[in-house]
Amino acid sequence: MLESLRRIVQEVNRALSLDDALRIIVSRVKEAIGADVCSVYLTDQSNREHVLLATDGLRPEAVGRVRIPLNRGLVGWVAEKADLVSLSDASTHSRYLSITETGENRFRGFLGVPIVQNRRVLGVLVLRQRESRCFGDDEVTFVITLAAQLAGAIELGRMHQQDLMPSRFLSGMAASPGIGFGTTVVVYPPANLEAVPDKLIEDAEGEVVAFRAALKDVGAEIDRIGDRFSQEDRALFDAWRMMLESDSLVDGALKRIGDGNWAQAALRDTIAEHTSVFDQMEDPYLRERASDVRDLGRWILTRLQNQHAPALKYPPQTILVGDEISVMQLSAVPSESLAGIVSSGGSASSHIAILARGMGLPAAMGVSDLPVSRMNGLETIVDGYRGRVYIDPSASIRNEYERLADEEQAFAAELDALRGLPSETTDGYSLPLYLNTGLVSEQRPAGSDEAAGVGLYRTELPFLVRDRFPGEGAQYNNYRRILEVFAPRTVTIRTLDIGGDKPLSYFPIEESNPFLGWRGIRVALDHPQIFMTQVRAMLSASVGLDNLQLLLPMITTLGELDEAQRMISRALEELLDEGHAVSMPPIGAMIEVPAAVYQAESFAGRVDFLSVGTNDLTQYLLAVDRNNPRVAALYDDLHPAVLLALTTVVAGARAHGKEVSVCGELAGDPLGAVLLLGAGVHSLSMSAASLLRVKGVIRSLSRGRARELLNDALRCETGAAVRKLLTGALEDIGLGGLVRPGR
Ligand code: PEP
Ligand code: MG
Repeated sequence: MLESLRRIVQEVNRALSLDDALRIIVSRVKEAIGADVCSVYLTDQSNREHVLLATDGLRPEAVGRVRIPLNRGLVGWVAEKADLVSLSDASTHSRYLSITETGENRFRGFLGVPIVQNRRVLGVLVLRQRESRCFGDDEVTFVITLAAQLAGAIELGRMHQQDLMPSRFLSGMAASPGIGFGTTVVVYPPANLEAVPDKLIEDAEGEVVAFRAALKDVGAEIDRIGDRFSQEDRALFDAWRMMLESDSLVDGALKRIGDGNWAQAALRDTIAEHTSVFDQMEDPYLRERASDVRDLGRWILTRLQNQHAPALKYPPQTILVGDEISVMQLSAVPSESLAGIVSSGGSASSHIAILARGMGLPAAMGVSDLPVSRMNGLETIVDGYRGRVYIDPSASIRNEYERLADEEQAFAAELDALRGLPSETTDGYSLPLYLNTGLVSEQRPAGSDEAAGVGLYRTELPFLVRDRFPGEGAQYNNYRRILEVFAPRTVTIRTLDIGGDKPLSYFPIEESNPFLGWRGIRVALDHPQIFMTQVRAMLSASVGLDNLQLLLPMITTLGELDEAQRMISRALEELLDEGHAVSMPPIGAMIEVPAAVYQAESFAGRVDFLSVGTNDLTQYLLAVDRNNPRVAALYDDLHPAVLLALTTVVAGARAHGKEVSVCGELAGDPLGAVLLLGAGVHSLSMSAASLLRVKGVIRSLSRGRARELLNDALRCETGAAVRKLLTGALEDIGLGGLVRPGR
């Protein structure tokens, strides 16, 4: 049943029109359940009726003609209850409505299942049996599951058909502010090599041509994407290029085609042969190369499977759409062509959302009803303030959004007036604003001039785009560049924080619960060579500049902190012994897990500063996966529990006279910034796009007022109440514009 469910959903998603989709649904469901009839009625609210739009088993001429008033008959009853109705003999039921046009009055068995989208009933799927029949549990759950999975596609098809698109939108989470106008480009996860079947061929020549064309396309794509990275960071792309041209890969596949198998299976076997060689190697590094070969194989397969589809082309205003969008897929789009991101998975606190905010790119994530497979090449508007997506918008919606975008520009110009002014309160208290950077490979990050320095440099990117751990020299170059750009201002570089939602292709971590698993400092301490190499590169990069601060992620125990510090001291001694003029930088611990909150005072006694990562702290305090759209509404960094944790951290640091910075997304939220100011935090670190907004707030109120607001917030019982309190307070001082959605 599962397989047939999957096939029906795939087929429907590929349908070209609503009529097609409904035809597929009724014939496949009828067949799968072994019923005599399957029909779909869609609800037309404006005419207050359910219209028969497809049937397999009833008279075809009834389609479009049979209209059941909204609250009449069994169909009306299913829709009214938004629940299934299963009857072994429908004709005996009080709600039964005899309809002669369809020939349905001859049938007895009845199963009606509502098609529900966002709590709204779109229509009813009905199965009928000539004889009396009790549909079994398996059959009922099959139809329910299918109806739930198809609701999105039906909704979209109907909007297209009725030209209702203009006023409708799909809802997700506001992940990165701004309004993006553009054309959608859909990206998929890599193709599945293992699922390719054997297929005997007659036209070997044609398969060879197809295979060579796929290699050529992939080669061109590798070059284009690789060119966007610096020489040091493009190692993975160079390695792929070499594999692509290697005789063993090309000849192996050609020989298998010559033996009579089609190109896709020839590729499958050739890649399997190569990976098994690597898999058997003793050296763990070489063993890990197998995953690079597999990645390349999937890439070629994708091109083979889309042989007649052109290579991905990015229109000038590209809106990237996918179920999950990876950092690599985002990096593949030329930055000048990017207009927005829309994904059905993820949430506002996923790393891809953080990346989007850093790039000033509007994004809506967790758009659960997104019909991804049918979205290529559609004119779309992304409203990153509200998390809305308008597909094929009407002229009036477009005009409205163009007006908003103009307002946005005017607002940005207003904010521009704050450039160069100090970030201090009306009573002269200075709260320096730092920059979060690192996930984007940039020579000179946006916001470089405005920020007091870098409060969080995430070092993961060079690790993500390579085919192996970067060596000390390559890392040195990266760190040196960022330290030089900002010198003499301080740059806080965080040691590697992989795991969670940032896996490395060459260092697979398979876990069912990755955010509670092997991530951040845990990986580093288990692999001292990785940690030591990174720390040595950081210490050396700061020689002569002395503006480095070193930050340790995901610390949970004092033991981890002690061990990491011991290793940093060892790296320093090694470098001194080797004759380098290195010095010990200030070291900070990130407070990201509840255990660290409660031990903040002990942590503060051991390090030079604390930096609160509110993104992870919120996820761990509230037990809400920051990547899971289903629970995203529960993720709230203004939750009073998070605020209380912050005050605990500040008190712990104060006991040792240490400073506390906040580098999670809360710091870049104007509402959050007010509370952090009130809590006595010493600095805030945020993405470039937030710097001026936050400065606008800081410059508009006194520290005393911020303290009062924090105390009021701590007395609130919910995050919503805190948000309301803060929004009201900012509106009172004329800053409502900073927090209105649409800003
Ligand atoms: C955080 O968790 O708040 C943080 C700054 O780290 P990251 O978002 O990279 O996990
Ligand atoms: Mg974190």
